[in-house]
This record gives sequence, C-alpha cells and structure tokens, in this order.
Amino acid sequence: MKTPVSMLTMSDVTKVYRVKDSLLGGAGRDVVALDRFSMTINAGEIYGLVGESGSGKTTVSRLIVGLEPADGGDIRFDGTKVMGLKGRRRKNFTKQVQVIFQDPYQSLNTHFSIFETVCEPLVIHGIGDRQFRRARVCEILDTTGLTPPETYLNRYPHQLSGGQRQRVAIARAMVLEPRFLIADEPTSMLDALISFQIFRLLNHLRESFGVAILFITHSLAAARNLCDRVGVLYRGQLVEQGTAEETIMNPLHPYTKALLDAHPRFGSSRQKAYGVLRETERPIPDVDHCPFYPRCNPAMDNICNESTPTLKYLDSGRKVSCFLF
Ligand code: SF4
Repeated sequence: MKTPVSMLTMSDVTKVYRVKDSLLGGAGRDVVALDRFSMTINAGEIYGLVGESGSGKTTVSRLIVGLEPADGGDIRFDGTKVMGLKGRRRKNFTKQVQVIFQDPYQSLNTHFSIFETVCEPLVIHGIGDRQFRRARVCEILDTTGLTPPETYLNRYPHQLSGGQRQRVAIARAMVLEPRFLIADEPTSMLDALISFQIFRLLNHLRESFGVAILFITHSLAAARNLCDRVGVLYRGQLVEQGTAEETIMNPLHPYTKALLDAHPRFGSSRQKAYGVLRETERPIPDVDHCPFYPRCNPAMDNICNESTPTLKYLDSGRKVSCFLF
C-alpha cells in the first residue's frame, strides 16, 4: 500500500466575519465561520467535507483559493504557504488548483460559446496556439462526456441542459490539467440520475489524471458514493473524520448521526435510526460548552455544558470531537 502524500494542509484555520445587526448599522457582531479548523488532503484522494448550510464548508474553499484571507492558522499547498502568494507563484498555484461551483449557469459567462468558455484558461495562462487550443478543448470536452465535441463548440450555455452545463464547467476546470479540484456542491442543482453521472465523471477524472478532489456537500449519502475519506463540519469545527464507508456505516458523533437521519442513505429504508436531535433546543450555556449541546439528545449535563471537546484520534485512526469517546 502506497504511503499517502499530503497535498493540501489547513492547520488551525480561523475565519471570523463581522455582521451588522440591523439596517441602522452599529458595531455589529462577530460570526465565527471557521474555528481552528484542520484538514489534510492527500495526492489523488477524494475528500468529502460534509455539513449543513452555514457550517463553514464554502468558507474553506474560498480560503484555499485565496478569495479571502484567513484570520489565523496556516494553509499550505505542496508545503508552500498559500496566503500571500503573488505574481508568477500565484499564477502557478491557480493553474494547479481549480474550482467547480454549485450553479453552472451562474459560473459560466452566458455570452461565451462553449469553445470560448473552456479555452479561456489556456488563453489566460498563454498556453498553446490556436490549433493546439482547439484540439485541447475538444479533447477535454470528450473526456467530460460532451461528445462529439465539435457539436458543442459553437453552442452557448442556455442551449444546454443543467447536466451538460456542469460538464462544461468541469471541462473548463480540467483543461489546464490541475492537480487539485474543489467541487463545491456540484450536484445540488441536478436531479439524482444526473448527479450520479457527475459523481462517476469526477471519479473517472481522479482515476485518469490522478487529480485530488475536495468534494463539498451537505449529503453524507452523496459523499459515500464518491469519497475516500470524509470530514464532518459543524459550526466551523471538524467534529468527525474517517473513511467514507466507516463514517457513514458506523457514525460516532451525534451530529453525524443527525445528518444521516436528515438524509437517509441512497436505497435505504432506514429513517431516523439514531434520533439524536432534541425536539426543543436547550438554552445556550454562558460558559464554554460543546457547540452541539443545545441540540444533542445524549448530551451529559455538567460535562457537555461546561467545557468544549477537542478532536481526538481513536485507535481505529478515526477522529471525533465528543465527550462520549
Ligand atoms: Fe453531544 Fe456532549 Fe458529544 Fe457534544 S460532547 S456531541 S453535547 S454528547
């Protein structure tokens, strides 16, 4: 078995947003989007980052690509700090790290033909002449299942289905042959059958090109279809991490169990097997506490409402942040 080689490492990353409380302004309040968040993704791995909306998943992707700075911690790609990259080193980084967004219609320029859309990264990076670029665009359209590719070159996004648009977005992201892909809820706008095809395409890209993928999703069931490992994010903190199979078949953290109850596994009739969510939330304690305490059925009074659990390695190699373990 090959030793995993870490590609992307986030260590104790914190991000805080200042939110205005009212239309009248005022000082506002701080909202912690990520709280000492750590994650490592290995070369060629598909890692699923799972959590409900507002858990901080998209903040992770924005910080990796440098759309905004972190307030603390360290983000490294191939051992090099991502924050502060400039000039040629920044351009080299953007060539190696690409993003696929949730809504392909929003992320594609509606005035660009499919050829112009997929070719643009080659132009930005000054790669190839006109003949090379046309051949390369056709090749990657073919790889992403848009065949025969010549029939797509002069079409526009509004002339394609949602699934075809997402394939175009994937082709654009892959045309530079990046080593790391961030897929941010890439199937949330698609129906189940098309989603399944997109999962197969992403897996094919990993197998064929060795690209590592950070797959961001709200659905553990979707992550199970695709990912090697998953991390579960709750209010900006990683609360559980393990292989996709064991985390989904044998979840440890109550929040992971709640996610499974909310999104039953594909093909399963099991509904609300865990019942870990309280009907009514407890008041938020004034002192340090587990962030999941107000919603957690198995919470232990005088423990979970008086201190904050930290992420611990278990003998099995899994990680969990809960006083039950
Ligand atoms: Fe629930 Fe306590 Fe575990 Fe937090 S530490 S998830 S409150 S049992």
